[in-house]
Formats: sequence, structure tokens, C-alpha cells
Amino acid sequence: MIDSQKQKKLKIIPLGGCEEVGRNMTVFEYEKDIVILDMGIQFPEEDMPGINYVIPNIEYLKGKEKNIQAVIFSHGHMDHIGAASILLDRIGNPLIIARPFTIEMIKHRHEDYSKGSSKRLKTIYVRKLEEKIKLGPFTIGFFQVDHAIIDAVGITIQTPVATVIHPGDWMIEYKPVGRQKIRYNHLSKLPKPTILMLESLGSTNTKKPVTEKEMLGNLKRLIKNAPGRTIIATFSSQVQRVEQILEYASEINKKVVLDGFSMKMAVEIAKKLGYIKAKKETIIPINKINDYPDKKIIVLCTGAQGEEKAVLPRIVNGEHYFIKIQKNDTIIFSSSVIPGNERSIQRLKDKLYRLSDKIIHSDIMDVHTSGHSNVWDIQKSSKRLNQLTLFRFMLIIFS
Ligand SMILES: [Zn+2]
Repeated sequence: MIDSQKQKKLKIIPLGGCEEVGRNMTVFEYEKDIVILDMGIQFPEEDMPGINYVIPNIEYLKGKEKNIQAVIFSHGHMDHIGAASILLDRIGNPLIIARPFTIEMIKHRHEDYSKGSSKRLKTIYVRKLEEKIKLGPFTIGFFQVDHAIIDAVGITIQTPVATVIHPGDWMIEYKPVGRQKIRYNHLSKLPKPTILMLESLGSTNTKKPVTEKEMLGNLKRLIKNAPGRTIIATFSSQVQRVEQILEYASEINKKVVLDGFSMKMAVEIAKKLGYIKAKKETIIPINKINDYPDKKIIVLCTGAQGEEKAVLPRIVNGEHYFIKIQKNDTIIFSSSVIPGNERSIQRLKDKLYRLSDKIIHSDIMDVHTSGHSNVWDIQKSSKRLNQLTLFRFMLIIFS
């Protein structure tokens, strides 16, 4: 985008996440000043032995470190924050801006990477979405979005030549449970011209979206009628769903076991921030699982993508110390298939079918809502926002 009189340009430079899944990182540069959105990792392919993850190439930022006003993070998924513990140091540790849950996730990852390093972070916690932050020629605003993790936000970046609207990862929840439906109309009042940048992960998905109300109704029915234990594998950062299941478990007097390092960590952070208010007695430690009748037990765990060391594959492979699959267990995949993981998930399901009679996943019943906008959402949003410029080049953003 160019200011014709002064020839001043806003440059938008994706360093990752464009035409690929993962390692999302976008540079916004006006004159000399820079703000960055997200620093994510990409998970390795099967033909990358020895590689733990792939990070964005930051060559473009060499020599420009002092111009970086801040790094803003849209939400706490690894493909948006995972590279921060490596890259922030390399660009001179600039200010980081995000919602509380996202910053806490970044801090935790920093500590995991190098003990004590989170103390070096310069942070601004965005506690109210109405906050505006001035960074040189940029004015940063925030707006709520629905996504598969709490505290996900969209970002607006006002510059002297245009306003960028970037929802990050997002979808439209048509029937939210326990909260208001999000409206986006206010974005149409932003200074024009506006540039709308949308993720394209679900942009070819024409399936009618599953609503949270339908999904939760199905999960509750399955949990209530389960003849034995209910084992639900979901994404570790899916804290809102964990909270909803905890609430329902306490309502029908069942007990919940949480298993998986990343899931327990996300729930701990959410509890600390007051986002999870489950009754203390609803969650039981895993070593108490056999103190209750099977019917009373819900296991919430990681491993829905078939990741070798995560909880569900370990259970299925007979490597879990406390849990073995029993014939009357109900196993639910409350998750979607991350592109690239199709084979490992199929292998996991094949093994499971030999062990239990009740395996439920999204092809059988709506037990998951996608966190990514599909054709319906994208059409609605672009019509409503009445964009002067719709960024035709779609960013591939993934969670
Ligand atoms: Zn995401």
C-alpha cells in the first residue's frame, strides 16, 4: 500500500505461514519502523529425522533490530508462539504484546527452553480489548475472535497509509455456549483503506460448520450414556472445552482425570488466571482412577494426532502405567486432523478398533468444532466488513 504523494509504503512481509501450514510470522514495515505478528514453529515432516521443529527465517530482519517496535502475538498455539523462545533473543528482545493466557504460555515455553529466560521478556498484557497501543507510526487495536484456544484475538494495525485487519486464526461460532455471539461490525468503522488478511486453512472447506451447542450436546450425551469410562482426546490448549467438560462432569457427579504434560500445563495457567473455576473435587489424580466405578470416570488427554509419546497412543500401545483400554471404554476424538498427521491418526484408530467397540470421531458424530474459518465464515466476514481492499493473497495460518 503506497501513499501516492509522499511515496511512503507499508510493506507486509510473511516470513512464514504463507502457502504453508505453521511457522506463522508476518512483518509490517512502514518507512523504517517494524511491528511483527506472531513467531510460530512448524512441525517436522516424516522425512525430517532429527528435526524437532522448523522456525521462520529471519534474515530479512538482520540490521533492522533497532527498528522493531514490538512483536504482537494473536494467540497461544505453538504455530504462533513456538519460535519466540529462540527468535526474540536474536532480534534484541523487543517488547512483546499479547493477552494474558498467551503471554503466560510464551513465558512457560521460554522457561522450558532456557531456565530464567522469561525474566528478560518485556511484556504488555492486553487486559482490555478496547486498549489501543501506539508504536511509532502504528496504532495497534484488538478484537475478540472465536478460535480453539482462550484469549485468541484479532489485531488491527493502523498506519498512515492503510489499516490492516488480521483476525489471526479464527472462525465464526454461530451458537456459542455460555457467552455472547461475537460481532465484527465495528471493524467496518476503521480508517480506510483497509486490508483484510484472512487465514486460508479452512477456505476450501464447504461443509456446514458444526456449532458449539451441537458439539457439546453430543459430547454430553456420550459421557452420560457411556457404559464404562469415557476417554476424550483433544488438543492440549483446548482449555474452554476442558472447562465445559469439567462443569458437566461435576453436574452429573463424574470424576475427571487430566493427562498429558502440555494439557496439564495449559489448565494450570488457565486456573491461575481465573479462566477455569472447576470444583476441586471434580479433578482426581491419575493414581486414584481405580478408586471409582468405571462409569464415573472421564479421562481428558492428549494424543489425538497419534503423536507417539502423547497419552492416547501410549494407552493404546499398552505403555501407560495407569490406563489400559477396556472393551466398554468410549473413546472420543474431539479434534480435527492436522494436515500431515493423517497416517499416524489412522494407525491409532486401527489399533483402537481392535481394543474397544466404541470409537467416536468427527466422521461419525459432530464431537469437535473446527477453530478455522471455512467458506461460510469467510463469505460472511468479507461481505459484512465491506472492504475496499480484500487481500486476495490468503495467508495460510494454522493451529
Ligand atoms: Zn491457532
